[in-house]
Amino acid sequence: YRLGYTAMSAKFAIVGSGPAGMYAADALLKSLPDCHVDVFEKYPAPYGLIRYGVAPDHYKTRNTSRQFARTFDEAAVGYYGNVEIGKDISLDELKEHYDAGVLAMGAYNDRKLGIEGEDLDGVYGACAFVGWYNGHPDYRHHQFDLTSKRVAIIGMGNVAIDCARILCQDPENLAKTDIAQHALEALRQSKVEEVFLIGRRGPVQASFTPAEVRELLHLPKVDAVVRASDLELDEHSKEVLSKASRNTKLNMEILQQIHDQGDRGNPRKLHLCFLISPTKIEGSERVEGLELVHNEIVKEGGVLKAKATDEVMHLNVDMVFRSIGYLGAAIPGLPFDDRRGTLPNDQGQLLDGVDGKLLNQEYTAGWIKRGPSGVIGTNKQDAIETVSRLKQNWQTSQTPQPKLVQHDLLDLLKEKKIQFVSFEDWKKLDKFEIEQGQQNGKSRQKICKFQEMLDLIQST
Ligand code: FAD
Repeated sequence: YRLGYTAMSAKFAIVGSGPAGMYAADALLKSLPDCHVDVFEKYPAPYGLIRYGVAPDHYKTRNTSRQFARTFDEAAVGYYGNVEIGKDISLDELKEHYDAGVLAMGAYNDRKLGIEGEDLDGVYGACAFVGWYNGHPDYRHHQFDLTSKRVAIIGMGNVAIDCARILCQDPENLAKTDIAQHALEALRQSKVEEVFLIGRRGPVQASFTPAEVRELLHLPKVDAVVRASDLELDEHSKEVLSKASRNTKLNMEILQQIHDQGDRGNPRKLHLCFLISPTKIEGSERVEGLELVHNEIVKEGGVLKAKATDEVMHLNVDMVFRSIGYLGAAIPGLPFDDRRGTLPNDQGQLLDGVDGKLLNQEYTAGWIKRGPSGVIGTNKQDAIETVSRLKQNWQTSQTPQPKLVQHDLLDLLKEKKIQFVSFEDWKKLDKFEIEQGQQNGKSRQKICKFQEMLDLIQST
């Protein structure tokens, strides 16, 4: 270690308590065993998209938060919930208190379609819908017009399929989960009969995972539909499939099974439509339909692409969701790659701009580092890469010297009158939510109002 300093003195901040932040905390403790790590989280509740993204009927996935809770049980790890970096505490203030920081803020904005009609009533982002059914404090007020009978979801990834599954399935299947109560009640009144998932590319290029699409085979009271023509592959896709990963081959097998199941007379239909793109959302004030164009797969510069043909189609729908990817947002004072929605970095070490120079104290992990792709586990290797770089720099003196000690941060929070949520506080809230859930036959009854969370912590 550097002259005069040992790992004993190392203090690291992590911004964001989602999977990336938590894997980074764990990797730091393992790489520099005597260091101290503080995790800052904008909301009172930790774990990012595990709480506010993962669908309520994915119980097992939700439970991955238990492994992260064990990290917080380590004495060397602190939790500062309800503290937004860049607003409550500036980056400069953070830098004064820590040797280095890992920025793991995730991505919670919708990528826009950029087509006419996107601002009509009845067009929603998947982010808002997902946040609404998961009881996210920022989205609990949103209203979705579920008197609509026909719904289009633009996008064919796992998030799009989650949204379709929540819209289509019998709400009583969700009643025992931790779905937000307001969403459950609204879904019970829903008039949705048909959902169309619209994918720009073909089934071989689809980005959903086999586990996600397989669920569509067994949704009670729902017929999933795949047209035979969508399974007839072009020459390029056939070639790709012959050398494709196991997952892609599995996806094709599952889509074939869905097609073979056919119409079983169930009241709701979920159509998976490939090789079409929306060109316009039709309607005067609210959504009345979609104009779409048929695509074909072409090879350009050795890469397969979906290219629009001149075959135009119309689809009557009353509601449209866009689900073509999440986008990260900038924090004041940080370099940002606006095009990719990520922090420019080299193996997790921040650059002062796209193609810029390496910064010494700032690192990044997760969706804000690499963009919104991959499952929870993908963030583990990603965080390990970042921490390896940090450790390497730490050991070769490239990280500035430690500055203040623990209580200084508490002084700062006190001075700024920030009511932070400690991990012990969160445990009280967690226990309360689970108990409330049990009384109502649910796995958890989430508190969705920000102030109510804080009041409850205070009162217990
Ligand atoms: P996040 O999980 O978003 O965590 C970022 C955290 O940073 C958040 O808690 C946020 O509040 C906090 N934060 C942001 N800004 C600040 C700030 N300025 N100060 C302090 N804190 C801040 N993966 C699976 O394996 N299985 C699934 O079933 C699954 N379902 C998904 C469903 C949806 C709808 C989505 C969007 C993703 C899903 N994923 C799933 C993917 C998985 O959730 C992501 O891979 C993972 O959450 C990314 O981790 P992250 O830490 O980068 O971001």
